[in-house]
Amino acid sequence: MIATGGSPPRHLAAGQHVVVVGGGVIGAMCAKSLVERGLRVTVVDRERFGAACSHGNCGYVCPSHVLPLCQPGAVQRTMRAMLGRNSPFAIKPRLSRRWVSWFWNFARRCNERDMLDAANGIHALLQSSMELYRAMVSAGVECEWQERGLIFVHGDRTSFEAFRDTEALVRDRFGVVATPYPGDEVLALEPALKPGLGGAWHYEGDCHLRPDVLMRSLRADLEGRGVRFVEGAAVDGFDRGGAVEASAVPLPHSMRGLPPFGFRPQQNSPP
Ligand SMILES: Cc1cc2nc3c(=O)[nH]c(=O)nc-3n(C[C@H](O)[C@H](O)[C@H](O)COP(=O)(O)OP(=O)(O)OC[C@H]3O[C@@H](n4cnc5c(N)ncnc54)[C@H](O)[C@@H]3O)c2cc1C
Repeated sequence: MIATGGSPPRHLAAGQHVVVVGGGVIGAMCAKSLVERGLRVTVVDRERFGAACSHGNCGYVCPSHVLPLCQPGAVQRTMRAMLGRNSPFAIKPRLSRRWVSWFWNFARRCNERDMLDAANGIHALLQSSMELYRAMVSAGVECEWQERGLIFVHGDRTSFEAFRDTEALVRDRFGVVATPYPGDEVLALEPALKPGLGGAWHYEGDCHLRPDVLMRSLRADLEGRGVRFVEGAAVDGFDRGGAVEASAVPLPHSMRGLPPFGFRPQQNSPP
């Protein structure tokens, strides 16, 4: 999440028009921050606002997820897990230079030093994100916010015990603590689980929300502040003198690298 309030960002003056490309949670938070700093904002989406990743995710706001995916042994572990019939993860190998290069770069980051480097950055983001979500919820943005923590459940005792090292690392380095529930003790906390478990770790500081409700509330909040929404319009380039004039254009990740000038949204057929 992005801090709100205060004066306009550098190079912009109050009342100038900013176009936010991409109506996911990132675009919505950019729009919120900008409109609260006195700018006029239009959000443009190639499909519908809040209908992509920001609609269907798990809704966790989770300081416990401080370690990145690139951890020592992650590649071997994931490959082994993928052999299982009900593996939650699959990769279709391709002989493409891009795929091989992505995989190679990921694999060489799977070491303790790179993992902790990334974790330092993730930790700072997760902590500030938690503060800002709480502030937004207190300010009345509805998202079915729950402060009940998150349970990491292990099917067998070996994997429950193996998690001790990870828990200790996260606790000692980042101060994020979990309570252990060996065996079926966790059933008292979550009766919906089936007996016969290895154990569970409860991160009490984690929270969750309903992402679709959050996106609806953010839209209502933004519309109430005069933010305009243009949907079914893909932005595929920038030029001077396009249909929409903007002083700045925050972009979704997929479009980074394009120069921020005026732009011409291409109207799609309605989704
Ligand atoms: C299965 C799953 C579970 C997840 N669980 C969690 C979780 O529990 N907690 C958590 O914090 N995160 C979670 N995430 C990650 C989270 O969903 C994403 O990080 C977040 O939604 C990204 O927001 P976004 O605004 O960047 O992207 P999106 O929500 O995907 O929005 C991007 C928008 O940009 C639009 N767009 C793209 N290109 C253009 C263009 N050229 N012109 C106009 N519009 C364009 C798209 O149509 C889209 O609406 C999860 C993700 C997945 C897939």
